[in-house]
Amino acid sequence: MTQYAMTEYDAAVSPGSVRRLGERLAGPVFVPGDPGYAEEAEAFDRSVRHRPALIVGAANATDVVTAVRFARDHGLGVAVQATGHGVALPADDTALLVSTRRMNGHSVDPERRTVRLEAGALWQDVIPTAARHGLAPLNGSAPFIGAVSYTLGGGIGVMSRRHGYAADHVRRIEVVTADGEPRTATEEENPDLFWALRGGKGNFGVVTALEADLFEVSRLYGGGLFFPAESIREVLHRYRTWVTEVPDELSSSFFMMPWPDAPGVPEELRGRFALHVRLCYLGPPDEGARLIRPLREIATPLLDTVTDIPYTEVGTIHNDPPIPGSYHINNFQLTHLDHDAVEAILKLAGPEADGAVGIEIRHLGGALARPPRVPNAVARPTARFQLYSAGVLGIGDDEAVHAGHDLVVDTLSPWNSGMRALNFMAGVAHTDPEDVRQAFTAETYARLVALKSAYDPGNMFRFNHNIPPYSAP
Ligand SMILES: Cc1cc2nc3c(=O)[nH]c(=O)nc-3n(C[C@H](O)[C@H](O)[C@H](O)COP(=O)(O)OP(=O)(O)OC[C@H]3O[C@@H](n4cnc5c(N)ncnc54)[C@H](O)[C@@H]3O)c2cc1C
Repeated sequence: MTQYAMTEYDAAVSPGSVRRLGERLAGPVFVPGDPGYAEEAEAFDRSVRHRPALIVGAANATDVVTAVRFARDHGLGVAVQATGHGVALPADDTALLVSTRRMNGHSVDPERRTVRLEAGALWQDVIPTAARHGLAPLNGSAPFIGAVSYTLGGGIGVMSRRHGYAADHVRRIEVVTADGEPRTATEEENPDLFWALRGGKGNFGVVTALEADLFEVSRLYGGGLFFPAESIREVLHRYRTWVTEVPDELSSSFFMMPWPDAPGVPEELRGRFALHVRLCYLGPPDEGARLIRPLREIATPLLDTVTDIPYTEVGTIHNDPPIPGSYHINNFQLTHLDHDAVEAILKLAGPEADGAVGIEIRHLGGALARPPRVPNAVARPTARFQLYSAGVLGIGDDEAVHAGHDLVVDTLSPWNSGMRALNFMAGVAHTDPEDVRQAFTAETYARLVALKSAYDPGNMFRFNHNIPPYSAP
């Protein structure tokens, strides 16, 4: 990873300059040692720790402009944080961190079927507002993550096989670039920037707001089928053929783990190893039930929550735990799932595995593989599945977790398409530019580097999944 030297400007970040900055801001400013600094810097993913020279708790877009200009004038880099779910490289003492958690508003335009998301908006707030108009956004599995960063990183959700990436449905982006200028990017205005921001994530500026499409979905047929350890092999072998027969309206994924014997865990799963097949069908419940019958028929699930639900309950399909912790996660895409791939996954993460690393497989294809109406920088996978591996750090043997990830990569190399997704690449373990490069085709990456060099030649926005400009040392 490239290291950046302190510049001659650093000395000018004095108590006086910080005080004058604070006077120009609607939101607060924090320096190390201030009450509130540690809390503001804290990320959901505790494996990374921001330690910036200062933090601006931006209250509005003007604050972001002021913060970026301060950083520009003092030779600082700029990092951005909404929730800290997807931090790559944390901010160090050469950085100003823009915290967007106060900019958490959103507004729905039911006529145009769009939503305007401020930088720190969370899906969990947007979903109920959209639902009041019979509409739904292209959110991901966990409603508690930041909507803007999720979208800039592509955004794969339970409706993506039908509608594509969240980034494919962005209409307008408001962004403050490295020169401190607020800009609007749309299909017509700054089209290069518009292309790069949708997929290039945090490399091109601080996005203060974006406008995206909503979809006429108020209910879905979805939930989870939880199978006991003894039927997992049979279910997974049926799953790999079943997914080749389902329509784009049906999304699915699976994850297996030992469920803790703890309060909050459904009685049926407590203390047991179980496979969780997540399902979402955008269509009539009867048809949904018909489509998933082949899975239900293989074995009696321990728990079957698949039913007709309002879209507001979409988060219950994956039931991701909203518990901050220290994680090492990785991802890559699988060209296909054949008999040997399933056997390898079972060996790595099934009931007999050591449990250091869990594996999630998501079914891709459908609209995810098709080009969007307005081209963007998100890679269109020809691979059929997304593999996400996750291990919890700090509670046992961290070395075993890291080794577990390496083993997953090695063992599944025959099926690895060579492509990865930025959104599922959090934490410092996979933030080298060589890792980031694998999220793009060679042609897209070359164009991103050219645009990065034009918009951010000094790599101000480097505390992220970085795409270094030509000039980077
Ligand atoms: C439990 C869980 C479930 C998930 N499920 C999905 C899923 O289903 N589909 C999917 O696609 N992804 C998923 N993700 C990944 C998630 O979309 C990314 O981690 C996303 O970046 C998180 O955004 P955030 O704002 O919450 O996190 P943050 O850590 O606050 O932001 C992540 C990074 O995005 C950049 N960034 C943030 N805000 C801005 C801004 N305003 N302007 C410019 N850059 C910015 C910064 O570089 C920042 O470091 C999941 C993550 C978790 C933890």
